[in-house]
Amino acid sequence: MSEEQRENMQAETSSVALAELPTDVWHKCGNCEAMVYKKDFEQNLKVCPRCGYHERIGAWERLKITVDEGSFAEWDAELQPADPLNFPEYADKVRRDQNRTNLKDAALTGKATIEGMPVAIGITDFNFMGGSMGSVVGEKIARLMERAIDEKLPVFIIIGSGGGARMQEGILSLMQMGKTSAVCGRLHEAGLPYIALLTDSMAGVHASFGSLADIILAEPGALVGFTGPRVIELSLKIKVPKEHRQAEFQFQHGHIDMIVTRKQVRPTVAKILRFWYGA
Ligand SMILES: [Zn+2]
Repeated sequence: MSEEQRENMQAETSSVALAELPTDVWHKCGNCEAMVYKKDFEQNLKVCPRCGYHERIGAWERLKITVDEGSFAEWDAELQPADPLNFPEYADKVRRDQNRTNLKDAALTGKATIEGMPVAIGITDFNFMGGSMGSVVGEKIARLMERAIDEKLPVFIIIGSGGGARMQEGILSLMQMGKTSAVCGRLHEAGLPYIALLTDSMAGVHASFGSLADIILAEPGALVGFTGPRVIELSLKIKVPKEHRQAEFQFQHGHIDMIVTRKQVRPTVAKILRFWYGA
């Protein structure tokens, strides 16, 4: 067999072997493209063990790794979006994402404990229309904070919103920015802390409750900012470096208090809560 034939054969064998790799055993990193053993990847809370890339995770999964097991009681679970503008395809997209995420809209809210300390918790899910804020997300965040005031609870919100305000609900969606910002103010007046973790926080979400927390944490590489690169390039005709919308840049410029890896989130929030509770 010639050298060339041998090489061809090896190439064929390895491509067959790759094609036959069962997808439930290996995970391909969305950043460095390394093939990592799925079990290791999941044990590492879906952070790539090679490059540290934090893969997006859904609200229920996030809840599970954040709060004490069995402590979560959901609030306002029945709220679901209307289609006030009869916007093309909106109802279909809502149904699709409801099935995909097991949520009625992009926010999950309720009460739970973290290392035994009670907290009002909210999580927005990128997998539901980019985690964008329509009437339901705004209302659930506002009710979460109002109820926290009634029950004198600290608030912790995990933001996975790359989508900003939800254009399919038009002005009703933009109104949620004012509403959620106002209730952040009431929470502040009540002397209750608001901690946010940004896993992605853009546009209308970031320009309201996303950036109004007393303590702002972010996962490494999180997208944080107001306008996306395409809009800036089209409207201002300038190129903005990619890193300007990343958590690390925002941290260096004082908009974020701390970058925490996914494994550090729960102990870090527990430490802040312990300090507040004087425990
Ligand atoms: Zn990687």
